[in-house]
Formats: sequence, C-alpha cells, structure tokens
Amino acid sequence: MAKVDLLEGAGGLVRPIERKRGTAPDNPERSWEPERVQLCGQGLLLRVAGYVCDEGLLVFAESRERVLVRFDDALVDRTLCLLAELRHTAGRDEPPAPLLDSPKCPRCSLVGICLPDETNALAGRQELPLRRLMPHDPSARPVYVSEQGAVVGRDGGRLEIKRKGELVASVRLLDVSQLCIFGNVQVSTQLLRELFVREIPTCWFSYGGWFSGIAEGLPSKHVELRRQQVIMSAQGGLDIARRMVAGKIKNSRTLLRRNAREGQPDALRRLATGAVAALTATSFGSLLGIEGAAARTYFSMLPAMLRTEHQLPGATFAWDGRNRRPPLDAINCLLSYAYSLLVKELTVTCLAVGFDPYFGFYQRPRFGRPALALDLAEEFRPLLADSLVLNLINNGEVGAADFVVRAGVSA
Ligand code: SF4
Repeated sequence: MAKVDLLEGAGGLVRPIERKRGTAPDNPERSWEPERVQLCGQGLLLRVAGYVCDEGLLVFAESRERVLVRFDDALVDRTLCLLAELRHTAGRDEPPAPLLDSPKCPRCSLVGICLPDETNALAGRQELPLRRLMPHDPSARPVYVSEQGAVVGRDGGRLEIKRKGELVASVRLLDVSQLCIFGNVQVSTQLLRELFVREIPTCWFSYGGWFSGIAEGLPSKHVELRRQQVIMSAQGGLDIARRMVAGKIKNSRTLLRRNAREGQPDALRRLATGAVAALTATSFGSLLGIEGAAARTYFSMLPAMLRTEHQLPGATFAWDGRNRRPPLDAINCLLSYAYSLLVKELTVTCLAVGFDPYFGFYQRPRFGRPALALDLAEEFRPLLADSLVLNLINNGEVGAADFVVRAGVSA
C-alpha cells in the first residue's frame, strides 16, 4: 500500500509527485535513494493498476526544486529487491534491531515505541550511556468526569457529557488524551469503540478516587519488549532499582533546595549522601533502608517548604509527618491523591508503550500491585506530585472548605 501526495497526468499516462520538506541533497541525482525507491514503488503500483508510469517527481519545498526521477531498470530492480527484503523482515518473529546511536532516532516519530537505546542496551549491543527521551507536550489533555449520574457519549468527532439529557460539556476528541471516569458515570459503546480506534485509554475510578480499571483496545504488539521485561524483573533488576531510588532522592533534594526557607544544609547533605549510597547498595534490603531514611529526612523538612501561616499547630495544613491508608490530614490527603494520579498516569503510559505495569524492578510483583508504574513514579513524586501539592497550598488554591473531615480523618 502506498499513499501518493499528488498524481499528475492525462489519459493513462501518469506520474506520482512526492513533496519533501527540506532541500534537495547536493549529489548527482539531487535526491536520496529512499526517496527514489519510494517514488518508484508508487510507480510500480500504478503500473499494476493499468497506468503507464515511467517517471515521478520529487518536489523539495525549502529549495523550491523539482527533481525528475526516471523509473529505469536499475531503479526498478533495486526497488523490487528492497521490497523482497521488507517482506522477509515483516515475516520474522522478531522486529529488526534498532539503529545504534543514530542521530535520526531523536527526531523519529517512532522513537517512543521503538526505544532504540533502551532496546540495544537490554540486548547488550550498546555500551554508550542512554540518551534521555524528551517527550513532547501533547496538546490533548485528560478529561475527568466526576459528575454523578452523567452519561458520556459521542457526537461525530466530539465527546459529549450529558446529565438528565442536558449537555454539560462537549470536547473535540482530537483534544482528549485520556478519559477518566469517577463513580457512577456511564460511557456509551459508540464512544468506547471510537476511543479504541484513536488509541485513547479510558480509566475507571471509584467515587473516592480508587483506580479500578482501564480499557484501551488491543494490547501492544511489542512482544519482545514484554519478554525482556519479564526476564529482567525475574532476575531482580537491582541495578535499575538503585538508579530509581537515587533519582528519587536527588529530586527530593532539588525540591527541598528550591523551596525550603530554613534548616536546609544538614538535610541536603544527608540526602546527597543517601543518593550516593543508593547507587552502591548491595541488596534490596539495604536499598529500602536508604530510601526510608531519605524519606524521613525529606518529609521532616516539608513544613519548611510551606508558607508560615500553614506551619502553626492546628492550621488546616499543619504537618505531623507522612501517613497513609487512609491519610489522616489535609496535606497527606493531597499527597496520596497526587501520587495515585501519578501512578495511574504511569500505568497508562506503561501499557501504551508495551510494558506490563505489573512487572517491576524495585517494587516486588504482588497481586494487584502495578509494580512497574510504582517504580517509575518514585523519581517523579517530588517533581510532579509534591511540587504540585506545595503550590496548591502555598498559592491558596485549596483551603479548609475543600476537605471533609469524618471521624477525625480528612478526605
Ligand atoms: S527510533 Fe526510528 S530511526 Fe531510530 S531505530 Fe527506531 S525506527 Fe529507526
């Protein structure tokens, strides 16, 4: 199958035209071989469809140049040879190895799926340090529906939220990255099918925010990636776990350095020592101990990152240490809620790129525990969740009226 940008001609005589964004290369053919082969492939398909097609055009937008490509015997042979190779590769059980340290990869649209550095490192083909992935910031955003009794449906290319037949909100599906449903909200089959086609996941939560399920069409086809993940998880993955914990401690330290008003030097020194110790931990037990000590240091400094009026005993945002399941006060409620959203986000991301969120490296696999999502959340907790909570409190965006206290417990 080929998609022709433009076809020009008359009667049965046609030539395909391919538009290219850049400039024509400075070589005798004024084009690259893949471009000529692509055009020739289109020409061969047009011939099969009954047209006479002996040439095509490459149009380079930046240099405003039109380059004629003749489909001579050499080019046709080369195209057929490459097609045979392509068929052979497509028929293999394993995908071809990614390019090694190629400058093409960072700009490739498949980099998030192909994961070239990570795949090569796991297969022992790459010794260079991994290049960090820089995900783009998509314009689409998650849609959260917490209006009880609402019905979420589809009208053409829009997602519509109705309650008692009244339209409450309408969003273009193009602008939706995820649909999150809280409590008793219905979703129509028509919408679900459209979300599957567009690869938009739907996440279900209880009324209280407990993440209970996800629907996202067919699972990823990247079998080899999952196989390697299971092998690494079974082998223990201490080295990966060390770096995750070290990353978490360093990020906690960064947040503290930027926000604490007093008493930092000692805590910063202890966190720096903890990050180094995490990288050389000899067992999961010692890594847990290092992480626990760093967390105690970090959370003991949390009041220093709050505005002064919140630091008074009895204030809505007074801090008395980290507690959970259930969180007992307003700050712990916010932290737990932000962490659960982060884990949800990472569970969805794991599934989207083909990982199994239940096979982790630091958090041991256990029934019902998305260990890999929890692992990945470690490094991001301070930067995404804690900093968000601090901003919400210090900027006055949440207050006492936003919490319900029952039996002495905030929610
Ligand atoms: S990221 Fe793109 S260019 Fe790099 S190996 Fe994968 S598919 Fe090829």
